[in-house]
Amino acid sequence: MALKTRREYLASLKKLRPNIYKFGQKIEDVTTNSFTRRVVESHARAYDAAHDPDSAALFTTTSTLTGEKIHRHNSLMTSMEDVMANSKMKRRMYQLTGTCTGGLCAGWNAMNTMWAVTFEVDKAQGTDYHERLKNWILQAQSAGWTIAGALTDAKGNRSLKAAQQPDLDTNLRIIEERKDGLIIRGAKLMICGVAASNEIFVLPGTTYGEAEKDFAIACVVPRDIEGLTIIETRRPSDTREQEEGFDIPVETGITQAYLIFEDVFVPKERVFLCREFAFTGKIIQIFTSIYRACIGACVAGQGDIMIGAAMLMARANGLPARTFSAKLVDMAINNETTFTMGIGSIALGSKHPAGIWVPDSLTAHANKVHVATLPYETKRLCQEIGGGIVETGCFPAYRDFIDPQYGKMVQKYLKAGPCSAEARARAARLTEWLTLGAGVPGCMHGGGSPDGARLVVRALTPMEKYAEMAKKLAGITEEIPEPGK
Ligand SMILES: Cc1cc2nc3c(=O)[nH]c(=O)nc-3n(C[C@H](O)[C@H](O)[C@H](O)COP(=O)(O)OP(=O)(O)OC[C@H]3O[C@@H](n4cnc5c(N)ncnc54)[C@H](O)[C@@H]3O)c2cc1C
Repeated sequence: MALKTRREYLASLKKLRPNIYKFGQKIEDVTTNSFTRRVVESHARAYDAAHDPDSAALFTTTSTLTGEKIHRHNSLMTSMEDVMANSKMKRRMYQLTGTCTGGLCAGWNAMNTMWAVTFEVDKAQGTDYHERLKNWILQAQSAGWTIAGALTDAKGNRSLKAAQQPDLDTNLRIIEERKDGLIIRGAKLMICGVAASNEIFVLPGTTYGEAEKDFAIACVVPRDIEGLTIIETRRPSDTREQEEGFDIPVETGITQAYLIFEDVFVPKERVFLCREFAFTGKIIQIFTSIYRACIGACVAGQGDIMIGAAMLMARANGLPARTFSAKLVDMAINNETTFTMGIGSIALGSKHPAGIWVPDSLTAHANKVHVATLPYETKRLCQEIGGGIVETGCFPAYRDFIDPQYGKMVQKYLKAGPCSAEARARAARLTEWLTLGAGVPGCMHGGGSPDGARLVVRALTPMEKYAEMAKKLAGITEEIPEPGK
């Protein structure tokens, strides 16, 4: 059966070769290690949700390839409703975990993107990438894999193209093409949810020209493939994950990682693009359209939890939540803005000839700019409602809270509203985690920087046409030329 339980998912991660490091230590078991167990728990909740009668309809679907019931995050999204379900699932996952579950997102999106692009490459060049991808998707669906998506390269000097970099390894590249596969070298950085993933879907990080054809590669690798070393990044307050108590009050979390590929062999059947540089633009276009339409739901879901946390803080401080009604409503408006703008972009989308649904680019990229902006205002409001206790997490640590000598005093002075000191402390730490701690998902640059999205909005907005419309309305018959042209 393609639907996996939490137990089967955890067992599949335990089987992988240990190749993840943090603070100089090799992580032997990602499901129990203090730095990775929370990200695994977050993803495991999607497997629970797939078996919960209340959420199964959202977390599962029918495979368009086999007719079997599968995890939604392994599916091809062939209709508007399918992509909307992706959005709704993201919002629900944030409500269940408080943060990002990247292994249920970028790899799924990459798989759908390549379904369209391999179809186009095969048609133009007579390759067999689409069939290879189909075979891998069948495996992914049957195994119920969690799949990270890796696009971002180390890049090197941002003013230079990949082929001009003094160190060519700064962008993942093909070192050797063999009959049976490829040898690749380089790095992908800041990749979400890798420790919770079974597989990694690798895509080009940008559009490439002929001089950079060695960088035009799309493939999938098992997370524990030989030659791949994974180094976890730091996040705010991550050493608290090793502490006891409630200074991180949640059991969930998110991680990002550096992926170092040292001459990794990728078998041919797992390669979906090899030097066809002319199609890299299409990959970026489709990937970002789906991603930036759906990411509005992520920040909306985290915003929902921020509304809840702010209400808990108001009450724990001894104030009715309604004191802050106007601020709570503004938070809700921010959430619904990014969520529904994404839904609108999906509704305005169209079906690719390969069968997948692609959201409208202009509105998806416009949404990305809101996603990089509005959640910061929501966080500010959440902190304003909570008070100094949440602004910097400004109260003693759990260890001091339970200290035999002065813990009672800490608790006495933490107590405020109609709840225990511990409940107020937990609500405050949750708010801190959501707004400036390890729970912050990274909505500014995650999914691409907002300036890149602005460039697309500028390119797709018919501004000259709008100037003509305005001219006509104003009764102007003469030309008003652009000065300096
Ligand atoms: C929390 C988090 C999660 C992430 N998860 C993933 C993931 O799962 N998978 C993945 O592939 N990536 C992931 N990323 C990486 C993310 O996609 C990148 O951060 C993003 O694409 C921006 O790249 P960068 O960080 O290298 O920024 P930079 O390229 O260093 O850009 C910095 C700034 O400079 C601007 N800039 C860059 N180059 C130029 C130029 N030539 N001219 C003018 N301006 C320029 C940018 O617009 C930006 O404002 C994640 C990032 C974060 C923070």
